[in-house]
Amino acid sequence: MKDFDVCILGAGLAGMHTAIEFMEAGLTVCVIDPKGIAGGASGTPVGLANPATGRFANRSWRAEQCMERLTARLKEISNYSGKEFYRKSGVLRPALSQKIAGRMQENVVNNDWAPEMVEWKSSDELQEMHPGLTSVEGGVWVPDGLTVSIPNYLHSIHSYLSDRKVFFFLDRNYSVQKENNWEIRTDQKDHITAKKLVICAGIYSKSIDISKELPLNAVKGQTAIMRAGDSLDFDHAVSAQGYFSKINDKEFILGSTYEHNFEHEEPDEQGFEFMFSRFSKVHPELASSSNIVNQWAGVRASTPDRKPIIGTLDKEMESFIFAGLGSKGLLYSAYGAELLKEHMLNNQTIPETVDVNRFKA
Ligand SMILES: Cc1cc2nc3c(=O)[nH]c(=O)nc-3n(C[C@H](O)[C@H](O)[C@H](O)COP(=O)(O)OP(=O)(O)OC[C@H]3O[C@@H](n4cnc5c(N)ncnc54)[C@H](O)[C@@H]3O)c2cc1C
Repeated sequence: MKDFDVCILGAGLAGMHTAIEFMEAGLTVCVIDPKGIAGGASGTPVGLANPATGRFANRSWRAEQCMERLTARLKEISNYSGKEFYRKSGVLRPALSQKIAGRMQENVVNNDWAPEMVEWKSSDELQEMHPGLTSVEGGVWVPDGLTVSIPNYLHSIHSYLSDRKVFFFLDRNYSVQKENNWEIRTDQKDHITAKKLVICAGIYSKSIDISKELPLNAVKGQTAIMRAGDSLDFDHAVSAQGYFSKINDKEFILGSTYEHNFEHEEPDEQGFEFMFSRFSKVHPELASSSNIVNQWAGVRASTPDRKPIIGTLDKEMESFIFAGLGSKGLLYSAYGAELLKEHMLNNQTIPETVDVNRFKA
């Protein structure tokens, strides 16, 4: 039998950042994931951390804190592993209509951004940065935006945590019940006990009894890896009607779909056509000279107000949740994990905007 202070269910962005927080606090921690590291939405090959979100580049919730926390974690894990799984690519957000340009400009001025976090670029400036990109009147530039290979990052966190005595029980099914402590038994005969249980299972949190009532909605997403005819002569990511970002000299990722009704979880032609037709409007020249190399699909867990769900599920049972990261897993996961740790260990209140209590009857 193995005893832990905290057992985390799920080894995606939420679960792995939460595991780091508790390990650092000196607690004994285990992580259980029947599908392995990045077995859910965090399996998306490359994602952007971009605090200027939505059609009009609105400042995301606690943008500065989220970016700072994520950037610090990425640096720390990259220093440990010696691997380059992220780059400060910046994110360029061309406006595709006059209405969008107007709203974006208003948001640059009125959204209380920290100095130099976003900048408005005129059409000429934008064309200089990225010839061939469609825009009306210009767009928003987010210099600190990041391009991250999420699975590579999470695999490096796995090594980092394993070196620091965090236990992983991967690729096995389990059952869990509350007795004095949480008792977990796997089909490989592991018997685990833990004082606290933290659910970080993304959309699969719906299949776990104690979190099944939460309003987590499944939104399927697809990405495609593309190969260009010539070397790519830009380093930044572009976000407009989806996104694209360079992976290497010739390849880039194209994302993504938002499918609220879907019949299967696999990538399909329809998904690719949707992404490609939008991409063709944003960068016609690059689209016409690129071919698909690979495709990927996953399912996000979205909430009615598009904010994550963090906090105590049941105080007596010592059960907790961190899920509902929607399309902003990179932005929210490192900071959200810190909030959850402070709440669980130091009784700090979870900000109302993300507190699980907003969805309790
Ligand atoms: C196509 C696509 C593109 C995206 N692009 C971006 C992007 O550019 N930027 C960005 O920030 N975000 C992006 N996202 C969203 C991001 O991937 C998610 O917000 C993030 O991965 C959610 O992390 P999570 O840990 O909450 O959930 P998940 O990553 O889904 O992790 C949940 C984990 O729980 C495991 N699990 C399942 N059942 C159980 C169980 N019973 N017990 C224990 N564990 C279980 C799963 O195997 C999985 O590993 C994208 C998502 C998709 C699908």
